Amino acid sequence: MADPFGFLKYERVDNPYRKITERIKDFNYMAEPLAFDQRVEQAARCMNCGVPYCHIGALYGNKSKQMSGCPNDNLIPEWNDLLYRKELHQAWLRLAKTNPIPEFTGKVCPAPCEVSCNEFLNGAGVTIKDNEDFIVEYAFAHGWVVPEGLPEQRTGKKIAVIGSGPAGITAAWRLNQLGHEVTIFEKDERLGGLLMYGIPNMKLEKWVVDRRFKVMSEVGIKFKVNTTIGEDITKEQLDADFDKVIVATGASVARDVDVPGRDLKGIDFALPFLSQTTKNVLKNGTTTFEKTLSNQQVIVIGSGDTATDCIATAIRLGAENVTQFDYHTEKPTDRTTPWPEYPWQKQISYGQAEAMDTVNQELIPYQTQTVEFLGNSFGEVTGVRTVLIDANKQVISNSEKDYSADLVLVAVGFTGLNTKILNDLDITRLNVMGTTNQENYMVAGDANTGANLVITAIHDARLVAELVDAKLQSFADRFSVKVN
Ligand SMILES: Cc1cc2nc3c(=O)[nH]c(=O)nc-3n(C[C@H](O)[C@H](O)[C@H](O)COP(=O)(O)OP(=O)(O)OC[C@H]3O[C@@H](n4cnc5c(N)ncnc54)[C@H](O)[C@@H]3O)c2cc1C
Ligand code: SF4
Repeated sequence: MADPFGFLKYERVDNPYRKITERIKDFNYMAEPLAFDQRVEQAARCMNCGVPYCHIGALYGNKSKQMSGCPNDNLIPEWNDLLYRKELHQAWLRLAKTNPIPEFTGKVCPAPCEVSCNEFLNGAGVTIKDNEDFIVEYAFAHGWVVPEGLPEQRTGKKIAVIGSGPAGITAAWRLNQLGHEVTIFEKDERLGGLLMYGIPNMKLEKWVVDRRFKVMSEVGIKFKVNTTIGEDITKEQLDADFDKVIVATGASVARDVDVPGRDLKGIDFALPFLSQTTKNVLKNGTTTFEKTLSNQQVIVIGSGDTATDCIATAIRLGAENVTQFDYHTEKPTDRTTPWPEYPWQKQISYGQAEAMDTVNQELIPYQTQTVEFLGNSFGEVTGVRTVLIDANKQVISNSEKDYSADLVLVAVGFTGLNTKILNDLDITRLNVMGTTNQENYMVAGDANTGANLVITAIHDARLVAELVDAKLQSFADRFSVKVN
């Protein structure tokens, strides 16, 4: 298994990010891949540990959704070993066995696998995410992706998948691979869900998303964009045309900050802001986009990854200043939980680093709660009134402070899926494993689990796809033995 002494010979080297002062000028991809031999050295650091926690995927302790290990059962030590041996085709097949779309996780996954790697106990874990990305990019470059997705024979069963995000793609890819005829319906004009219109271009360039749909079409999957299920196509039509339907519509209903002044102009939710920017970049180019926030003061409310993406996007759009309100206490720099739990320690995200280096060293007032949006006589936002709160979330007296703002972005999470689709499809009950009260309708990805990660959406949709296949009995047929 890889080189048992690799971790003693080689330091961890991540795919380096471009210099902040350079990368904030454009929306091009931030990281630069290592050369083949350097990547092989990184794979050599996987040390035959015996009990690889990297692919355990467990939720530990009481720290909400923080997990330890890959939640998708990825066969990490196996493909690290194959990469180390330069058996790239085998590495690809092992990787694709559990993850049909690693070109996305290889670029945007927060990699809970790496902090539960045994090497993280005593330093830096293996560069699992970057290794994954290297393998899948190698597979694309060598034409191995389409053959892996082609079915051996067709079953004649028809599946509708509603939504083209990672869950919809995963379910469609797997069910097509098993021989079913799959059509994806997408309400937007471009395919990809949050891969296209949520995650910004500097984290995930959109040609990568388009490339996936090209190979999906080459393996026989069909698509209908600009088609909203429930409006353009009814449940009756779906029932008539398909054997099974998978609802993979995501969980993008935003949580709000409901305080006085919320209806002022210039207070936007994060997702429309990010998707509008991606449209701007797709239309005008990654270096020639419209700088829509020149000289503006921007406040981002929220502390998660979406808030980070807003900060980084605002800087690229020319914002003069960005401030991020974090409701939580500042985390310590040392880990607060024992390995292999998620370390739960202060980390400076890419967007925070960019802001602190360029527009605002004092980016984050912690323990800050918004109490009012301030406006002018034109009904436009001009600022935000805040108070400080203590560790028990109690307001600290005389802590009121006003901040100026031309634009406020609300990035405080998502409440779940848009239930209109459930009403439109007569779904009144969501059961375990994505099943519903409607025998032929299953729910997958964020729509099933709540807003989460690309890899959790993949995992959930993978399980749902297997269940759909089993329900269609093609699985049983495939492995049945003729007795007379
Ligand atoms: C700004 C942002 C950044 C993120 N960054 C990361 C990251 O770096 N790493 C990470 O792992 N995760 C990240 N995530 C989370 C990740 O993107 C989601 O968990 C994942 O995309 C969920 O996949 P999904 O397929 O379930 O849903 P989605 O990607 O939301 O796709 C749902 C699709 O369904 C379509 N749809 C909805 N209703 C209908 C209808 N009635 N008819 C037809 N189509 C419909 C939608 O248009 C959409 O295309 C981020 C999320 C956001 C918002
Ligand atoms: S998908 Fe994410 S958690 Fe799983 S192996 Fe890849 S980087 Fe690690």
